[in-house]
Amino acid sequence: MTQTIPGIHHVTAISGPAQANVDFYTATLGQRLVKRTVNFDAPDTWHLYYGDRAGSPGAIMTFFPFADAAPGRIGPGMASAHAYAVPAGRFDGWLDRLRAAGIAFAGPVDRFGARVITLRDPDGAPVELVETDGTAEADLDGFHSVTLWLRDPARTARLLTRVFGYVEAGHERTPGAERLRLVAPGGARGSVVDLLRTDVAPAARPGAGTIHHVAFRAPGVQDQVAWQDILAQAGHRTTPVIDRQYFNAIYFREPGGVLFEIATDAPGFAVDEPEQTMGTRLMLPPQYEPIRDRIERVLPPLRVAA
Ligand code: ZN
Repeated sequence: MTQTIPGIHHVTAISGPAQANVDFYTATLGQRLVKRTVNFDAPDTWHLYYGDRAGSPGAIMTFFPFADAAPGRIGPGMASAHAYAVPAGRFDGWLDRLRAAGIAFAGPVDRFGARVITLRDPDGAPVELVETDGTAEADLDGFHSVTLWLRDPARTARLLTRVFGYVEAGHERTPGAERLRLVAPGGARGSVVDLLRTDVAPAARPGAGTIHHVAFRAPGVQDQVAWQDILAQAGHRTTPVIDRQYFNAIYFREPGGVLFEIATDAPGFAVDEPEQTMGTRLMLPPQYEPIRDRIERVLPPLRVAA
């Protein structure tokens, strides 16, 4: 193996009305709206990106909000949850703040020796906060992990370990479920992937409150090109490189059914507006600038509380 994946780049999900999504991710979770743009494949809908101040890889949660989205159902063949890392000493503060604000959450439960609580976003999607020993000066320090719900985790585990370079870090059984933890060496943000198998598995249905895909990091453009070859040799068919304005993307369906993406770190979210004012106005890729007026008329307005 010549190269490995350092961790998650971003996670993309489907939501209902945009304003409730903005309020939850900015006000409740304290994330920054780092980009307001449109779905490049359907420019009459928002594509919202949340992250840390700088919009760093490993902290980016993105949404396609649809005002009339049908609720989805999380099940096997999907990423079933994303988890943020809570730096050491800040977990009890989260519990206090959420309780004081009357925001419901489940837990804390113990998972691989760390406390985990689960909030629900306005569409019912689980958002996990995991206590870590990280020392960042922030209430959340980007992603801790993503959980993939699979009928047969073995083939996905093989892809992650033999092709991506992850290593097994533990196995945990809870009533009705088992969880295999894989970790990317290097300790980058979002370096953990949990593979979850359950005894009872509902049929998954895409829709509001479900994750659409998980993107892994390729630090450079040349790494991404190399991944196309490596994945092809391992029998996975990827898309051509697609320019997503803030990163380049390739996509493929992993053997368990989850849509994977490999996204480049560059150019990043400050490519088309200053980092200081990122996320305050609608940014469009060049192909949609000529129809900006039309797009601005159909997009629902957004308010971000200061
Ligand atoms: Zn993506």
